[in-house]
Amino acid sequence: MNSLLIKTRGIPVGSCEVTITGGTAPPLRLPGHALFLDIDGTLLDLAATPDAVIVPPGLPGMLRQLEQRLDGALAILSGRRLTDIDALLCPGLACAAEHGMKLRGPAGEITNRVARPALYTHWAKIFHRYAQAMPGLLVEEKEFSLVLHYRRAPEHEEELRRLAQQLVSEADDAELLPAHCAFELKPRGGTKAEALTYFMALPAFAGRKPVFVGDDVTDEPAIAKANELGGAGLHVSRDFGGSTKEVRDWLAAALAG
Ligand SMILES: [Mg+2]
Repeated sequence: MNSLLIKTRGIPVGSCEVTITGGTAPPLRLPGHALFLDIDGTLLDLAATPDAVIVPPGLPGMLRQLEQRLDGALAILSGRRLTDIDALLCPGLACAAEHGMKLRGPAGEITNRVARPALYTHWAKIFHRYAQAMPGLLVEEKEFSLVLHYRRAPEHEEELRRLAQQLVSEADDAELLPAHCAFELKPRGGTKAEALTYFMALPAFAGRKPVFVGDDVTDEPAIAKANELGGAGLHVSRDFGGSTKEVRDWLAAALAG
């Protein structure tokens, strides 16, 4: 499946901005496919803080139906913590939490792919000091990684980028993951692309073609991996006009088809 790019709106690129190039994703046909979905910016609109997202009432039920129709070949690939994913969507879905650092298979088996960086606590103190000094910053402490959100203080982006780069340069067990209005210090390894490959080897997924939908720079390797494995890697801006509702409607149409 290839997207057809139909328009460019020319919105300037920045880490808090999204370039929308339009496009129409081809219809999703469930038989023979495995489905991988990001959450923020894909199933749900981005919000000022991670806790402020709004989950449309029908979404958890729709995901459960998709999981059943796909005989279990559905997984959520998100940067969120596993507990957050369960609280937002339906508990127990197969998922890759924290960008693929923590995996839960269809039978509930959990695999940790990484360990917390050695300097995690030191970095957390520094991030909290910055958050006290710069109103609008939010520090998110995940199981393996540490995130500094600046959506409400975008004027500090460059200073915070230099800080994150400097901190990560002190460690050989961590890397910097820039995302929408956030800098994340994470352990090396444990990516969404690796997670997609892991799931595709499980019995519920094997032999199917992977379809992944994501929206962020952090999703590009998994988008490429889905294409490489003979399926489709789709991007919310490029293939759904930048609209999470378009993604949800596309999933609903697949269920109705
Ligand atoms: Mg996202």
